[in-house]
Amino acid sequence: MAFDFANLTKLRQRLNAWYQQHARDLPWRRTGDPYRIWISEIMLQQTTVTAVVPFFDRFITRFPSVAELAAAEQDEVLRYWEGLGYYSRARNIHKTAQIITSQYQGVFPQTVDELLELPGIGRYTAGAIVSFAFNRPAAIVEANTLRLYARLIGLTENARSTGGQRELWAFAEQVVNPKSPGAFNQALMELGALVCTPTEPKCADCPVQFACCASHLGKQAEIPVQAARAEVTQVVAFSVALEQDGKYLLRKNPEGERWAGLWDFVRFEDDAAAALLPKRGLHAEDSVPAKLASRLSSVARERVSVGGNDFRFVTQLTHSVTRYRIRLQCLVATASTACQETESLRWVSPAEFESFPLSVTGRKFAKLIERRLQ
Ligand code: SF4
Repeated sequence: MAFDFANLTKLRQRLNAWYQQHARDLPWRRTGDPYRIWISEIMLQQTTVTAVVPFFDRFITRFPSVAELAAAEQDEVLRYWEGLGYYSRARNIHKTAQIITSQYQGVFPQTVDELLELPGIGRYTAGAIVSFAFNRPAAIVEANTLRLYARLIGLTENARSTGGQRELWAFAEQVVNPKSPGAFNQALMELGALVCTPTEPKCADCPVQFACCASHLGKQAEIPVQAARAEVTQVVAFSVALEQDGKYLLRKNPEGERWAGLWDFVRFEDDAAAALLPKRGLHAEDSVPAKLASRLSSVARERVSVGGNDFRFVTQLTHSVTRYRIRLQCLVATASTACQETESLRWVSPAEFESFPLSVTGRKFAKLIERRLQ
């Protein structure tokens, strides 16, 4: 069974009527400003609408235009992004804002091809900006429309495979309504988010059910076909807060490292240190066994030229990055030697932690250090 394009006019009409009634009032929908639409679309990648709304409002209040974003320091942009994760998105929007300001005189490009030249703007984001802000026909495929299109056309291939993507983008090009592409694309996304949900889609309430291959075949649960999930790998990592005269050493992660541009305590993975952890684990305020302390000190010295004495365990934070499940051992220690500050190494008092952009675990650890001192 294949999607019948003879149904297209009816599908557009039904979808439009449904959207008029059901569209959510979201801050980035109240505007045709390409800057706001761009920021919201980048934030919404990998993040839910509910989580994005407060970040978006706060970000736009601080950086209300592309010029103000371009003029800001990267540290401040990252600080406003903190908590959203996937920080390359924030570094890229900062670079793109600077390019739009310097090469386009602050005026957003209006074509997909020009937008695709900018850092962090892929085919979906370009299509969203062009159709939502400039009301020009452009195809979009993101998580919600991917699922919706796959079900409408009864896609039997893995939706993320090259062939699956080719079919979905071809379908998106064909269905977009040339008369009102912005509203049409937003309606498709909204239908995917609210009705054609990943599990238990509400087919009985769906305005395009009459045209849906998956529904007619009873295959909503099997489509879109997913690739097998990668196996989870367990990792032990260490975060050492080296203290000297009431200040703690923060290091800025360089380009090419995870969380580039963010600051953190001295963080590393080291198999030899992991092997020295007591089997029963460590408890808060435990002194660290001598061999482990010596190993941690020497790895810290290799990394930041400062070792540590009197290591104390604070807590274990567990978090996931892609397929890695990380058990982060957070420790404090007294710095063994003085060390000069550099561009990427700073001695920071707990009262100043707030002004540095930190990773999620870095921020949690910083708060524990503050609490420990109260
Ligand atoms: Fe999705 Fe069901 Fe609508 Fe098909 S009928 S598009 S599966 S909600």
